[in-house]
Amino acid sequence: MKAATRAVELRAQIDEANHRYYVLDAPTITDAEYDALMRELIELEQAHPDLRTSDSPTQRVGAPPSEKFAPYTHSRPMLSLSNAFSFDEVRAFDERARKLASDALSYVCELKIDGLAIALTFEDAVLVRGGTRGDGSVGEEVTPNLRTIRSIPLHLMGTALPPRVEVRGEVYLRKSEFDRINAKREREGLPVFANPRNAAAGAVRQLDPKMTAQRRLSFFAYQLVDVDGLTTQWDALSMLRTYGFAVNPNIRRCATIDDVIAYCEEWERRRDELDYEIDGVVIKVDDLAAQERLGAVARDPRWATAFKFKAREARTRLLDIVVSVGRTGSLNPNAVLEPVHIGGVTVKSATLHNAEYIRSNDIRIGDSVIVTRAGDVIPRVIGPIVSERTGKERVYRLPDRCPVCNAEVDHPPGEAMSRCTNVACPAQVYERVLHFASRGAMDIEGLGDVLTEQLIDREIVHTIADVYDLDAERLHGVPRLAAKSIAKLLAAIDASKTRGLARVLTGLGIRFVGEETAKILAADFGSIEAIAAASEDELMRSEGIGCEVAASVHLFFAQPANLATVERLREHGVVMTAEKRVRAEHGPLAGKTFVLTGTLAHLTREDATELIERAGGKVTGSVSKKTDYVVAGEAAGSKLSKAQQLDIPILDEDGLKNLLI
Ligand code: NAD
Repeated sequence: MKAATRAVELRAQIDEANHRYYVLDAPTITDAEYDALMRELIELEQAHPDLRTSDSPTQRVGAPPSEKFAPYTHSRPMLSLSNAFSFDEVRAFDERARKLASDALSYVCELKIDGLAIALTFEDAVLVRGGTRGDGSVGEEVTPNLRTIRSIPLHLMGTALPPRVEVRGEVYLRKSEFDRINAKREREGLPVFANPRNAAAGAVRQLDPKMTAQRRLSFFAYQLVDVDGLTTQWDALSMLRTYGFAVNPNIRRCATIDDVIAYCEEWERRRDELDYEIDGVVIKVDDLAAQERLGAVARDPRWATAFKFKAREARTRLLDIVVSVGRTGSLNPNAVLEPVHIGGVTVKSATLHNAEYIRSNDIRIGDSVIVTRAGDVIPRVIGPIVSERTGKERVYRLPDRCPVCNAEVDHPPGEAMSRCTNVACPAQVYERVLHFASRGAMDIEGLGDVLTEQLIDREIVHTIADVYDLDAERLHGVPRLAAKSIAKLLAAIDASKTRGLARVLTGLGIRFVGEETAKILAADFGSIEAIAAASEDELMRSEGIGCEVAASVHLFFAQPANLATVERLREHGVVMTAEKRVRAEHGPLAGKTFVLTGTLAHLTREDATELIERAGGKVTGSVSKKTDYVVAGEAAGSKLSKAQQLDIPILDEDGLKNLLI
């Protein structure tokens, strides 16, 4: 292909990528691919200088600012950085810089934080304006958003400050925050962010600062623009600290390029120890006067370069989607990929999170996709390269049946995650047994995580019902389980049989049925059969049971496998009944509100409460006009006087009992 045609093609591709990356915060090619395109264009323009146009992406930084925001004009251009992809290139940078500066040079090495660069202007020590880098000359004014970032001081510290201070640095999102935000978005059925950089860039460029604040961004300062009296970058970083900025703690001053290389090697190895993403090391000439002498070419300063770590993103083909079932029953779609090398590892599969992620990113089987692998986390598919579609790609639908046990799958509307509904699903046995034995449920002391794992590994326990098959013989030989512990465990298992319906319901781990809901259902229905036979409408008649809970309970008992588990519990003598509460609308105290105060002659407060509730009444904690009766015992206090003031009938224990007849 002719050089001129190729140059036009490359420019178009890079412009498009820039727009997607900087303006839309949604890249569709990998950074490595972008770097390769850029490198090819730079080399082409070097070989054919006549092909270089003033609007070539090699001559410009970033992308023009969006019109959503007021413009922020930079006092000095905010440049990009040349890249070094190997240590040979780092050495070449050093040689070039030394030659041009005609000096021995030392360097400051800084981690290259993967966020977005911003500039902050302080006047008389007060933050007045802040903006994004934009195209290097003009960025976007986002002051209210930047004010929400805790590590950006709104006031500089120290005395005798210059009247105007300009600080530049990187806004970024901690990995832990990124995970928190994505987990929340996943729960809320919103699309998750591809990486912390995109999430951070999107947050800074929000129109509503409240949205920015919710993302809890952080900031590292790394440049002081034009401050008199400073001679080195190292001193500038110290000065930034005294002003009250967070400066990255891992900066290092290096006297030789060998030291620089050692630093790069160290941090490429250690990058996963950090709670933020870094994609390289920025190597800066320490001496500020030498920096001035070196100046810049086009968009890159000659006094700094970025050593880029090995790429952790790659493009490959999505061959298929398979589903695994998590320990809590969640259906997790996974990508089967054409094997691809990412950061020294062959990646063959990656997570696709959930059905909603696949849908909102329009990921189809057969697509070319971008895959990322950061640190020790599971590789993820970021998204499809739509421009490469042939029309043969297939839209994917999550199965309606669990791939492990074939039970029905629950896809609650508005929720991103779908779940298997079978309490005996083999994929879930560990979590299920632990939950069943937990304190709020059957409270089986001794059946903790280690033992549960051992029992599953030895194939002694496959479902919660198997817990009641345990005996001394089966438990014999389980490591660290002495005869005494076995006896204790068996006694605890036996004791759990009589905890009653509410605890069993809690232990079954029905979605949305916690301890409180279980108590309500148990008291209203009295037996597990009655609950299993109830329609959604009937379930919703119970206080606090909404349609979500009712649908979940109904679906649970519609599964033959769950009914079989319940049946086995019954065979083992697990009590699954409860004393039925007389419904409020039927009892003699229906609709009446009581307040208890003081000590009653025979009844404890709990007993009195139960009596009242069983008769349809309600017990509340404070006296108001809505209170129908106050039951007062010995040493009644302010509640009694309040009742007298409000003319509310006051009863003693006998008075209460009379009402119940
Ligand atoms: P850059 O990322 O190579 O380097 C400059 C940037 O480094 C600065 O603007 C600043 O944000 C950051 N930085 C972090 N720590 C720093 C520190 N301590 N000191 C100085 N700067 C620091 O350059 P760029 O112009 O922002 O972007 C180019 C890169 O962005 C490409 O190499 C590519 O990786 C990526 N990109 C990707 C796409 C895509 O479509 N995938 C598109 C455009 C750009």
